[in-house]
Parts: sequence; C-alpha cells; structure tokens
Amino acid sequence: MGRGREREEMIVKFNVGDLVELRKPHPCGCKQWQILRTGMHFRLKCTGCGHMVMVPRVKFEKDLKKVISKTTQTLNMQEEEEKGNI
Ligand SMILES: [Zn+2]
Repeated sequence: MGRGREREEMIVKFNVGDLVELRKPHPCGCKQWQILRTGMHFRLKCTGCGHMVMVPRVKFEKDLKKVISKTTQTLNMQEEEEKGNI
C-alpha cells in the first residue's frame, strides 16, 4: 500500500558487466547480452558473436526479459557523468 518507497523498488539498477536476456534474439541466435555501459544509453555486447549496439535506456528496459547475472561492482562514476550531461 502507498508507502513512498514503492517507486524506488520499481527501478531496476543495472551495472556494467551484467548479463541480460532480451526478448528479441540477435540474428546470430543469441539472446544474452553483456552491459558495457549504462546511462541514458546502454551499450550492449552480444555474447554470441561479440556485436555491440547502443540502445536508449527506455528501449533496453522494454526489450529486457530478465537479468541473468548481476555483478557486484558498481561504476557510479560513469552514471554520474551521464546525468551531468543532461
Ligand atoms: Zn550476436
């Protein structure tokens, strides 16, 4: 019930190095991608063929099926940098 913190829990935090699965497979047949960069745009690397793409965060969140593995490392510096550019 309405307790203010609900919204925060909705926000999934992604870190560089996380492995994720997207709804649409890459033409190479692989659905798993590694996050190379977070921020307003995400840079993803296909774990099947090594192809890299840049996708807007909103699109990434829509295409995301599940997070396969989370890294423990956090690269907050990079995210701060992205926020500062807006
Ligand atoms: Zn691929």
